[in-house]
Amino acid sequence: MKDYYKILGVSRDATQEEIKKAYRRLARLYHPDRNPDPKAEEMFKEINEAYHVLSDEERRREYDRILKSGDERKFKDFLEYIQEFVESIIKGERAKKPRKGQDVRVKVHLSLEEAAFGCEKVVEFDRWVDCPDCGGKGVVGEAETVVCHACGGKGKRVSGIFSFPRPCSVCKGKGFIIKNLCPTCLGRGRVTTKARIKVKIPPGTDEGDVLKVPEKGHSGVNGGPPGDLYLKVFFKEHPIFKKVGLDLYLEHRISYPLAVLGGVTKVPTLEGEEEVFVQPGTECGSTKTLPGKGFPREGRRGNLIITFRIEVPKNLTRSQRKLLEKLAKELGEEGVDKGVSFKERIVGWIRRI
Ligand SMILES: [Zn+2]
Ligand SMILES: [Zn+2]
Repeated sequence: MKDYYKILGVSRDATQEEIKKAYRRLARLYHPDRNPDPKAEEMFKEINEAYHVLSDEERRREYDRILKSGDERKFKDFLEYIQEFVESIIKGERAKKPRKGQDVRVKVHLSLEEAAFGCEKVVEFDRWVDCPDCGGKGVVGEAETVVCHACGGKGKRVSGIFSFPRPCSVCKGKGFIIKNLCPTCLGRGRVTTKARIKVKIPPGTDEGDVLKVPEKGHSGVNGGPPGDLYLKVFFKEHPIFKKVGLDLYLEHRISYPLAVLGGVTKVPTLEGEEEVFVQPGTECGSTKTLPGKGFPREGRRGNLIITFRIEVPKNLTRSQRKLLEKLAKELGEEGVDKGVSFKERIVGWIRRI
């Protein structure tokens, strides 16, 4: 069980004056706006909890009773109750202050080339902005109010097992209800619009990177600055290259004579086609590495690794077939099918007629 007397550093029979003084001193010390320590916010909440229990005679009596009985279950209920109450008070204070807008997270899909060399992209998302019809107030003109029927204007209601009141859920503790809410935003003061933002993607952006575009998120509240826009980078599948780390892989088809005799072939790279020398006697499946032709990032560049595939021609002309048959004979290949194709048989038959 939490000891609220200890948290405020006061005795069990402290007067209201002493409690107030202790609270003010500690609240100043731990206020999250002044104390950057991440633990300060937690402490600030505890101090407020303690104060809101001990500064109200009714609540203090209830707490003393539970403390004396040592009933932990009852204390758990009590704590839940108090924390909800304190939270709503802190939230209420925060609602009036200028606040930074919320951040927006968007996925962006890039091609390898766009990511490697940088580009400009237009991203679209739903953005919260101040309602143009009420200027963010949520009310058109002067607010017309009626007393909240649920709490009778007190803003608090007694409900549940405890005798002390909690904030009214109907009017959110305000005690009144606004009649003439802005019809455009229904009183929220904000509406969504389609935002179209042009962003610069820097060269060497990799998959999984998160790019920050400052102040392009949801607009701020009560005059606060807008939130930030975060872009998470995904790559589109590339028709030619496969990227592994900073290396790019590609399969390239060469003809049988080129594989046997060697020579020059044109290979696609990120920057366009490039001539590559093929070694005489290149086997199908063998690779060649072009250093520094891979993906660029932070001043480094991966390699481009070419895997050669040998093209097997399917539809031969008569003379091509003759040449290959001659070659087969030269190589001593006995098993080659010497039969003419179905098409050739038809052509021959027509010619004979
Ligand atoms: Zn409005
Ligand atoms: Zn109410």
